[in-house]
Amino acid sequence: MKVVKFGGSSLANGTQFKKVANIVFADKERRIVVVSAPGKRSDEDIKTTDLLISLAEAVYSGGNEREALHQVLMRFADIIEELELGEALLTEIEEHLLSLISTYREDEERLYDALKASGENQNAKLVAAFFTKLGEEAHYVSPQEAGIIVTDQPGNARILPEAYNEIAKLRDRTGILVIPGFFGYSKVGNIVTFPRGGSDITGSIVAAGVDADIYENFTDVNSIYSVNPNLVKDPNKMKEITYREMRELAYSGFSVFHDEALQPVVTKKIPVRIKNTNKPESPGTKIVADRVPEGMPVVGIASDKGFCSINITKYLMNREVGFGRRLLEILEEEGISFEHTPSGIDNMSVILRSHHLHNGIEERVLNKIRTELLVEDVHVERDLAMVMVVGEGMARTVGVASRATTALSEAGVNIKMINQGSSEVSMMFGVDAGHADLAVQSLYHAYFTPVKH
Ligand code: ASP
Repeated sequence: MKVVKFGGSSLANGTQFKKVANIVFADKERRIVVVSAPGKRSDEDIKTTDLLISLAEAVYSGGNEREALHQVLMRFADIIEELELGEALLTEIEEHLLSLISTYREDEERLYDALKASGENQNAKLVAAFFTKLGEEAHYVSPQEAGIIVTDQPGNARILPEAYNEIAKLRDRTGILVIPGFFGYSKVGNIVTFPRGGSDITGSIVAAGVDADIYENFTDVNSIYSVNPNLVKDPNKMKEITYREMRELAYSGFSVFHDEALQPVVTKKIPVRIKNTNKPESPGTKIVADRVPEGMPVVGIASDKGFCSINITKYLMNREVGFGRRLLEILEEEGISFEHTPSGIDNMSVILRSHHLHNGIEERVLNKIRTELLVEDVHVERDLAMVMVVGEGMARTVGVASRATTALSEAGVNIKMINQGSSEVSMMFGVDAGHADLAVQSLYHAYFTPVKH
């Protein structure tokens, strides 16, 4: 059995729906289909999820609710009209949205989650209706019916372990099952969404739950490239990478596959294949548990901006038992998660996503560090980017790091931090955000561009 997930661009209009139907019907093993909300039809277009967020804003802050609702309905109306699915479906969608608005009008977080989720929810109904119209047995299955039981934290759902037993029962159902991505239901019955881009997570959970042979993730690129194709012309295509490599790349800016979407499939070692809805014959990229490394151990270069670093200096820090714990506790008290902690004998840096230090939190954190840890110096360094060189077994290969540092120095990029964890899957360089693209380009050429003799 295959679980197939289609992203927003794969379902942006009626023409895309037809491609999806062809792909699903071409293989009888494609029994479970997970869908996103309709995405962008062109670069200037707005995703349905963003239109729904605007609708939630209009409802909650007293904006132009009618206009915002109209914008959402138009997206679905276009698809319904192109596929001749019948006016009744559009009326149903409108009634559904109005009922969500009246139920959650006063409850900001639930209102946002319920409306955001409705993009995928209504789209799944349209996909099931379209498949049925084409003569296939297809059923819309709500996440509640599918057993996607999640934690109750709005916008940040996590699957609960007991969900998997429920999801396994989907194996016994007949026909093609169409499940909306991006949300589940909490035990108390609330609609709770995963983080943005979270339909990938639903697909992975369902694939793990039904013990699928493969999780096929259809998007709008032929494969995952070794580097952002907007930065390097015609970059290397990856045929096969491991879960660990994908996790590192997804974390550091590769948006093709959500970085939280790997965990469910990893445990069961279910392979994931990234494919292109617009070119389904292309083999795409396969993400697997293990692979035999061939050639250079580096598979990809990525970068992500929006980081800052809290840099702390204290003489004899290395001898002070519990220093690190107390420092991280200060962050914990503020509900802040950290990303990396490079350190020296008398200094330690904690790298965070910058948005954590908003609204006076920075002042509080720095004061606590000064007064509770009695440090000599603490300051925040901003506008950092983390550049990652990723590849299994890289750290065991002589010369990988030197090639990177040479490339960065030749490009005039100042390395502010270097971090290589024990996992041996990645090497991280902290650089000024303004140098991130240049750093990525120079690293890519250092590893992937053949030397000309
Ligand atoms: N529609 C949601 C978003 O735009 C989830 C997804 O497409 O995966 O974030």
